[in-house]
Amino acid sequence: MSTPLTFSFELFPPRTPEGGGRLPGVICELAAVRPDYFSVTYGAGGSTQEGTYETLLTVVKHCGIEAAPHLTCVGSTRVHVAALLARYRAAGVRRIVALRGDLPATAMSPAAPGEFRYANELVSFIRESHGDAFRIEVAAYPEMHPQAPSPSVDFENFCRKVEAGADAALTQLFYNADAYFEFMERCGKAGIRIPIVPGIMPITSYANTLRFCNGCGADLPRWVRLRLEELQDDKPRLLDFGAGVVTRLCETLLRNGAPGLHFYTINQAEPTLRLWRNLALTVPA
Ligand code: FAD
Repeated sequence: MSTPLTFSFELFPPRTPEGGGRLPGVICELAAVRPDYFSVTYGAGGSTQEGTYETLLTVVKHCGIEAAPHLTCVGSTRVHVAALLARYRAAGVRRIVALRGDLPATAMSPAAPGEFRYANELVSFIRESHGDAFRIEVAAYPEMHPQAPSPSVDFENFCRKVEAGADAALTQLFYNADAYFEFMERCGKAGIRIPIVPGIMPITSYANTLRFCNGCGADLPRWVRLRLEELQDDKPRLLDFGAGVVTRLCETLLRNGAPGLHFYTINQAEPTLRLWRNLALTVPA
């Protein structure tokens, strides 16, 4: 029997009262298609751990679907991480997305300040302190993490997270399916069998897509960039074009063995649901 595909939706803690007011509606709309879980970012854009916790509770309250906090270790201490893990475990959390987090722009060294330098150390810490109580997801970079010296060194570092006990990985966004397939080939050769779920960022704006890609070093194919630039003042056509590009990407990934999809929803229901409908992913019974 084949393993069922896993679909997850990523949210971030709202940054404004208006965003907070809209979030329950967004969660309900997304929950209607019964994803396997929601994940909630931490630290991105200055959000606090309290914001992550509250958003987690909002998910559980409004739809009862599993919610997984992202936990970053940059600049943190073992005592602080231990307290967070205890709080999450007491709240019934069973899945954590374990990350290093982004370094301050002024950082001189690729190692994080604080008691954890890299995500593999956080994964080891969670396993040592909580055994198998949490399912641990880590980040994977088909196009290489921007601070890594080379793809092969970055891949070795990815392997360390798997060896430390990661159960699965979610990838950085990408628009080039071949980068994912090549990464999967390398995993196969290295004996890595955990699911590596592609991270999917819907395309809804020229400026944001450029910013996201530049921020994480993802390749935006030239023809896509040129079309988005041309359509930037025609929102309906840009949305149609973007949905077409990302739907084809998702189809290609699923047809060729991707174990599911992780959607970066950016706290909007419609862009992700449009892809969902295009892919005809049905609501589980
Ligand atoms: P690591 O795996 O530690 O890798 C970071 C860098 O260090 C890489 O260049 C790697 O090659 C190198 N490295 C790793 N281990 C070692 C080692 N042992 N020795 C030497 N070098 C090493 N950021 C947030 O702030 N909040 C979030 O909620 C968040 N969610 C994310 C979700 C996903 C799915 C993804 C893909 C990214 C997310 N990020 C988030 C961004 C992430 O924090 C950054 O990309 C960060 O710079 C790296 O985190 P990491 O866990 O991949 O780090």
